[in-house]
Amino acid sequence: MEVRVGLGFDSHEFEEGKPLFLGGVKIEGEKGLKGHSDGDALLHAIVDALLGAIGEGDIGELFSEEDQRWKGAESRVFLEEALRRVKKKGYEIANIDCVIVSDRPKIAPVKDKIRRRISELTGVSPERISVKGKRREGFSEGEGLVCLCTVLLVR
Ligand SMILES: [Zn+2]
Repeated sequence: MEVRVGLGFDSHEFEEGKPLFLGGVKIEGEKGLKGHSDGDALLHAIVDALLGAIGEGDIGELFSEEDQRWKGAESRVFLEEALRRVKKKGYEIANIDCVIVSDRPKIAPVKDKIRRRISELTGVSPERISVKGKRREGFSEGEGLVCLCTVLLVR
């Protein structure tokens, strides 16, 4: 059995008047995340972890901010492409572990919903997916939000 591990990181600034998407879930009543696409930093971190594990660069290389096709795009599209590449190389996802560093929104009330949505989007069962929320203690006030993700692939 061959295993690969991937690490993803993403951060976005908040943007007033834009809806907030995290892990493919729309979170009501919160500021959205700035970005060329829907700004879903969690899905972007997952995509980078997947691409990293198979050695195929990162989300910025595949989906350039210069490219008008991705303006306002749902980040689900980026995930689908990363999953296609993982599958093409013969790998399956063993597990996905994510951290969302955020004071607001609070992650605890939405994390199960996010986990289920990631499960739907990836086809990986929910018990193989972990979503954790951490407050940003000890570093500067929330102008934005940070997400980290590791994935393990097997073939
Ligand atoms: Zn991003």
